[in-house]
Amino acid sequence: MKQTIQPVYNFNAGPSALPSSVLEKAQQELLNFRGTGMSVMELSHRSSTYEEVHNNAITRLKTLFSIPENYEVLFLQGGASLQFSMIPMNFLQKGQKAAYVNTGVWAEKAFTEAKLLGDPYEAASSKEGNHRFIPNINDLQYNQGDAYIHITSNNTIYGTQWRDFPDTGDVPLIADMSSDIMSKPIDISKFAMIYAGAQKNLGPSGVTVVIIRKDMIEKANPNVPTILKYSTHYKNNSLFNTPPTFGIYMLGEVLGWIEEKGGLQTLAKQNEEKAKLIYDAIDESNGFYVGHAEPESRSLMNITFKLADQELEKKFLEEAKQGGFVGINGYRTVGGCRASTYNAVPVEACKALSEIMIQFQKNN
Ligand SMILES: *Cc1c(COP(=O)(O)O)cnc(C)c1O
Repeated sequence: MKQTIQPVYNFNAGPSALPSSVLEKAQQELLNFRGTGMSVMELSHRSSTYEEVHNNAITRLKTLFSIPENYEVLFLQGGASLQFSMIPMNFLQKGQKAAYVNTGVWAEKAFTEAKLLGDPYEAASSKEGNHRFIPNINDLQYNQGDAYIHITSNNTIYGTQWRDFPDTGDVPLIADMSSDIMSKPIDISKFAMIYAGAQKNLGPSGVTVVIIRKDMIEKANPNVPTILKYSTHYKNNSLFNTPPTFGIYMLGEVLGWIEEKGGLQTLAKQNEEKAKLIYDAIDESNGFYVGHAEPESRSLMNITFKLADQELEKKFLEEAKQGGFVGINGYRTVGGCRASTYNAVPVEACKALSEIMIQFQKNN
């Protein structure tokens, strides 16, 4: 909660809430960063002061997320959206196929880019059910010899999330984790690559986090423009060209905040509690509020629902807005309501939302 005339509860889907202590620290350090007499934005990216910020963010990420030795962390630009193209450019070689699981808008965008560059196919889809569920991990159709299988671990727009991940053996598993990265501990060793735009769970927009197994870098297609090769960024410690220095600084500070909170175990528990407050308001409403996702596929990061009565829904959204709740409208092409309860959204905000939901139902 930031200091404004009226308290604001930020449920934005992305960019989204940042921890207020991190913003305060950034403010304190803004004009004189660690004795340099200038802001972190004005430092050379080749200076030792910046290098420390950069390496500190990488180390914190590796430690907090328990990333094994044979993986590297890269900070790239272009958002998760550029990864949709870089992945097939680097890994989908001539004569190979790649499997894509279609669980929503972002998953489909990744698939579309791969079609421009090679021969991908759908390993499973939730389209028929309007993306209300995550396909069963035992029903995924892919073949040994595929270049990779691509999944979207959390579907920001539909509010569904993978509970567990398939063991894909020799087929590299690649995941877009833009909207649930570091919201809980996971077994990194199941993945060949994980990527995420930072602006949902990790920091401001402008930085894309890539966690990649080193053998993937080695076997990538060499005929790719230099800046679009993972190997380029790997060899240069993500300093091939000017990185988004301020964003990486903020990311490092958000990771420091996660550390102070007690790490991913603690966050995971809190994220569960937060989502439960809102799901309970839906489930105990006798159909007044209707959840979009099937209960076993529900996301702990994006809670999607509508009101059974469309007129009341307009009224609810208006009253929520009046009450200082920001970002409750559903995605522009889907409608309804959505509350994004990422890492930095405090429990109090979720409590407040569940309370106005219950009160609104009573009044109407
Ligand atoms: C927000 C989002 C994206 C798009 O990220 P950009 O950084 O804006 O390119 C991709 N995938 C998922 C799952 C998202 O939530």
